[in-house]
Amino acid sequence: MASGAAAPPRPLNRAVIFLGPPGAGKGTQAKIVARTYGVPHLSTGDMLRDHVSRRTELGNRARPIMERGDLVPDEIVLGMVEERLSRADCRNGFVFDGFPRTLNQAERLALILDGLSFPRPQVIHFVVDREQLFKRMTGRRTCKVGGEIYNIYDGPPRVPGRCDNDGGELEQRADDREEVIAERLAAYDRQTQPLVEYYRRQHLLEDLNGMQGPEAVTRVLLEMLAKA
Ligand code: AMP
Repeated sequence: MASGAAAPPRPLNRAVIFLGPPGAGKGTQAKIVARTYGVPHLSTGDMLRDHVSRRTELGNRARPIMERGDLVPDEIVLGMVEERLSRADCRNGFVFDGFPRTLNQAERLALILDGLSFPRPQVIHFVVDREQLFKRMTGRRTCKVGGEIYNIYDGPPRVPGRCDNDGGELEQRADDREEVIAERLAAYDRQTQPLVEYYRRQHLLEDLNGMQGPEAVTRVLLEMLAKA
């Protein structure tokens, strides 16, 4: 895979934000970038799902909201993110996947990054059309053990239902069902899409054609990160 081919890149030393609708490939690519640069992959969706599966108080509040495809309230997400960023492994940078998702989250993030003496973030905007998004979400399967992501239509595992890396069982996310997908896309249009203009105005945003195959996306993405 492209990520392993090159020499180790310079340290990231910044926050990278993956912005784009659900199903655009942010999670798949964030894992690769995080591995390549040796920084944490911060997926607020994964953090929330972890709370839900552990039935914490936060998870119990978030579960019904996530199940209907709405966004979890900002204060829940921001508390979780702030706590995570205070840990030592975030010192050399990190990749956000699925955060920020509202204007309020973006504005708060700017303050948090300032407080940590981080430069302004690099924002990568994944551009994918609606038809592809549906196909990617309905076909997505995730390894229960390591979280590796597959797609039964265009990126299936070697053995159906099993992870190539660790043989873990693959599962479909509860919110990747058709009824919920429409709601998640509507939430994106309503609350997250305005961030594209917010970051573009600040000259922090770069568009990435997410319609290419995953390896081509990785190649372009690593170039964009190396250039910044
Ligand atoms: P994801 O895995 O990024 O698709 O997120 C799954 C679900 O978690 C979303 O549909 C939301 O309900 C919730 N979620 C994840 N990140 C955020 C966020 N930054 N703000 C609000 N809700 C979020």
